[in-house]
Amino acid sequence: MEDTKHFTELGLVNTRDMFRKAMKGGYAIPAYNFNNMEQLQGIVLGCAESKSPVILQVSGSARKYADPTFLPYMAKGAVQMIKALGADIPVALHLDHGDTFDLAKSCIDSGFSSVMLDGSHHAFMENAALTRQVVDYAHKREVTVEGELGVLAGVEDEVSHDVSHYTKPQEVEAFVEKTGVDSLAISIGTSHGAYKFKIKPGEEVPPLRFDILEEIAQRVPGFPIVLHGASAVVPEYVKMINAFGGKMDDAVGIPEEQLRKAAGSAVCKINIDSDGRLAMTAIIRKVFAENPAEFDPRKYLGPAREELIKMVKYKNEHVLGSANRA
Ligand SMILES: [Zn+2]
Repeated sequence: MEDTKHFTELGLVNTRDMFRKAMKGGYAIPAYNFNNMEQLQGIVLGCAESKSPVILQVSGSARKYADPTFLPYMAKGAVQMIKALGADIPVALHLDHGDTFDLAKSCIDSGFSSVMLDGSHHAFMENAALTRQVVDYAHKREVTVEGELGVLAGVEDEVSHDVSHYTKPQEVEAFVEKTGVDSLAISIGTSHGAYKFKIKPGEEVPPLRFDILEEIAQRVPGFPIVLHGASAVVPEYVKMINAFGGKMDDAVGIPEEQLRKAAGSAVCKINIDSDGRLAMTAIIRKVFAENPAEFDPRKYLGPAREELIKMVKYKNEHVLGSANRA
């Protein structure tokens, strides 16, 4: 039997107000992915401590991993926890890369306040029709919807593409109009996963296509734009992982100064998944390397959660500009 509830019952908000303020204030809302309790706590505590609004984000497979019935209560638990600590920040629960109407509907019915319908692998008309169907269902329930135009390269859970296709700015107006979406993910050179670019030593990562972003912002003024695949792939974490027995050669991400620049533009939401994974993995590897006899999960997941809090605060303050905006 389905456990139906509205997001307001979980203490969540949709993304409408967050994006309106972010657009006006020249910053971006962080959207951090999570799969388990320590990640979730690390994210909300980091955001509560830096007074940042936050979008808690799960992919379809992360939702399956945590369990679809259990997951909304995790979000509610997180909201209640930070309230008990005296923090008052807006929290949204968002489906990342929803690929069917049924998945989006199931998330909305279970308490999500925002969903993405990623139809970017379909032709334009098909993508628009599918997205419209989700928007019609979502908006009746005050749930906000993110669409996508253009394809990002890289691997993220079940989403995987070899090459990226930049968003065509001339398609954006018609897509926004036809679908009624609240925000749009675009492809301007970010990429999913921890291995974003194949570069030789000494070579620079190719810069984001700010010209495409600017043209889109001119065509749909004031409309919230989303960047996926926007982890920096923090080099210190990669180094730490490799130093303590890991093997992550050639992992490389988006330079933080480019993300900071994007956050000051029409970009209102920046997705960060890989960096959170790296932070936790680096610390867990360090604990195990230094204390091979350790077998209490609190002794490795606890420090990993602490590191995630630190990382989230740093990102909010120095990359997204969302600190002190709650
Ligand atoms: Zn993505």
